[in-house]
Amino acid sequence: MTDMLPGLAEFEPPQPVEKLSPGVRLTGRRRDEIERGRHPATHQVLRRALDPDDEATCGDCAHLWRKNAGNGHWWKCDLASTRGTDGPDVVKRWPACKLFTPKEDA
Ligand code: SF4
Repeated sequence: MTDMLPGLAEFEPPQPVEKLSPGVRLTGRRRDEIERGRHPATHQVLRRALDPDDEATCGDCAHLWRKNAGNGHWWKCDLASTRGTDGPDVVKRWPACKLFTPKEDA
């Protein structure tokens, strides 16, 4: 068969695409956004993108609040809520965005 189709012997068939769960894909998108210098919740530029020495995180910010529900809790940013929702979850160790307000200034 490959005699009839020159070049086919060198052709590598495509590898099967690994199926990732929605949670794993979301984590990957968030990581990519941080690497591009944007915050995954507010989509604002990261402070550390403006100043590489800036070590502020969402955990230090006055806009972070704790949502309790059932037996669990999540961290939210009051500036990332949209259309009456609480907005996406925020991880306290994420680098702070340019809207950061130190807790003591609140
Ligand atoms: S740094 Fe503050 S304003 Fe920015 S996303 Fe985190 S909690 Fe929200």
